[in-house]
Amino acid sequence: MAEIIKLSLEEARAKVVALLSRHGVAAKTAEILAEVIIAAERDGSYSHGFSRLAGYIATLRSGWVSADVEPVVKDVAPSLVRVDARNGFTQVAMRAVQPLAERKCRETGVVCVNVFNAHHFAALWTDVEPWAERGYVAITFVNSRPRMAVWNSKKPVLGTNPMAFACPRRNAQPIVWDQASSVRSQGDVLIASRTKTPLPDGVGVDVQGRPTTDANEILSGGSLLPFGAHKGASVAFMAEIMVAALGGGNLGFEDKAADYPGAVTCNTGQTLILIDPVATSAGRFFTRVDDLVDFFTQSGVERLPGARRHKHRQESALNGLTVSAEVMQLLENG
Ligand code: NDP
Repeated sequence: MAEIIKLSLEEARAKVVALLSRHGVAAKTAEILAEVIIAAERDGSYSHGFSRLAGYIATLRSGWVSADVEPVVKDVAPSLVRVDARNGFTQVAMRAVQPLAERKCRETGVVCVNVFNAHHFAALWTDVEPWAERGYVAITFVNSRPRMAVWNSKKPVLGTNPMAFACPRRNAQPIVWDQASSVRSQGDVLIASRTKTPLPDGVGVDVQGRPTTDANEILSGGSLLPFGAHKGASVAFMAEIMVAALGGGNLGFEDKAADYPGAVTCNTGQTLILIDPVATSAGRFFTRVDDLVDFFTQSGVERLPGARRHKHRQESALNGLTVSAEVMQLLENG
């Protein structure tokens, strides 16, 4: 039987920082990326935890992403900030803009942050949950290169463009949802390919547009499919517009990763909208959210989005993270 390797959260974080540093990632950037990778693994967001490490390394090796740049933050208007990530990672740009975005949101009640020229390779809930913990409603969108056939297209024309939403609460954890616009995220399909696990019906089609449950057929020229057919397609379209058209980044199909053999991230962007709910609701927001959640509970809703993650979070804090031999090898020698 394979040996079970356990690492504490701190041990795992330090190993990810060391791995990224060995590949030329600046110290501050390595800390930020390690934080989101470990948070995903800790919360059971396995499609965006350790499973992403090989992709980060392959992209860094290819020279496609700039791992040692400072983003440029531009104060455009009372409720508007633009950030040029300078071909770096989106999370670094979002950290850089944090104090200005918070001040603007407090002053005006709302702020829109547009990040462009940026690579996002993580779970989006990590971008919005911290804002809700500070009392703000947050909604965010990311676009990426085409992987989904939509509205009867014969080939992929939109990314699995995800969005995430975070709702603060008075005396409870924020309610956070975070979803790809595809039936399954690309990360889940990569895991299915690696573990040779068939996918459920309806996740994707092969290069001829025929339904398939084989992850490799989807990944080699096929397409993922949007959730809810045309409805998920519309959500992916909205994300594309909210990020690339609104924020000035690349449209997904303009991504140039293919010019960098091995690269898997996309140079696109991210839009984040923050709202001060106390200002918009004349102070009633938190009571109204409680009213809604109480109604859910009385109506038999058994779990809210994010509840599964919080359960994993508690277990990880107690027991640490389980690391496969393959991931351990990468962490130690990659
Ligand atoms: P899931 O379908 O697993 O989950 C979507 C959301 O629904 C989560 O908030 C989840 O909460 C919630 N949820 C799931 N089941 C239930 C239920 N029974 N009752 C109530 N709520 C439920 O996510 P996806 O596969 O669509 O996406 C996975 C990840 O991929 C996301 O983190 C996303 O950001 C990431 N992604 C990143 C991209 C990028 O470019 N960086 C591109 C596309 C996707 P819970 O977490 O508690 O289960």
